[in-house]
Amino acid sequence: MPISEFLDPQLRGHPNPHPLSGYAHAPIPNRNPDWKPDLIQVVSESTLNAPEGSPVPFTTQNVTDTLQCRRPRYPMVKVNRINSRVCDIVVHRQIMCGICFETMAEYRNHLSAVHPGATISTGDDDALPEHWKNGTRALRKWVLSGGWRKADYDSEPFRGPVHSLLGEYCDFLEAHAQARQQIIRLAVRISLPSTFGLLVSKLADQKQSLPS
Ligand SMILES: [Zn+2]
Ligand SMILES: [Zn+2]
Repeated sequence: MPISEFLDPQLRGHPNPHPLSGYAHAPIPNRNPDWKPDLIQVVSESTLNAPEGSPVPFTTQNVTDTLQCRRPRYPMVKVNRINSRVCDIVVHRQIMCGICFETMAEYRNHLSAVHPGATISTGDDDALPEHWKNGTRALRKWVLSGGWRKADYDSEPFRGPVHSLLGEYCDFLEAHAQARQQIIRLAVRISLPSTFGLLVSKLADQKQSLPS
């Protein structure tokens, strides 16, 4: 990964949520915490084997089916499939859920089961290259600006999902001390606000003290 990716001047003003691609990271609001889909569950092997009385989780199909006839009161927010893969849904105040997922499919299952009224995917246009561009920019900005380091979670995600863009970006900045210095120098040269450069160096110090 070239350092230039962290020096993209467009990072500075990059919005989260993005109007086209939605949220790439926290804080993702849940505007409909009380909305639940109808549970029209086809009896499957796993539900048959579940202990009696154990709750059956909502599936993405339950959510999709229910949305055809009964929508939550407030609009659900869009989540970019290029995201942190840490559950960044706000659960109370400014505390996010924090469970980590290795795949978007697992994250989507969790969103449907636990926060069904919160989010929709970007839908059929999920694979648009713009979503990649918008998601990666938002995540790089989040890591660079210290947002990820400072985010508060119910389940502490520590370093986040093992294989993720988030991890990749943190590792990159941690592993390349020299590159980091170069980022700071260049950041000054292209006159990013000084706090931005300062945060880069803070990130470098504090990430190293996190448990691995
Ligand atoms: Zn969650
Ligand atoms: Zn993995």
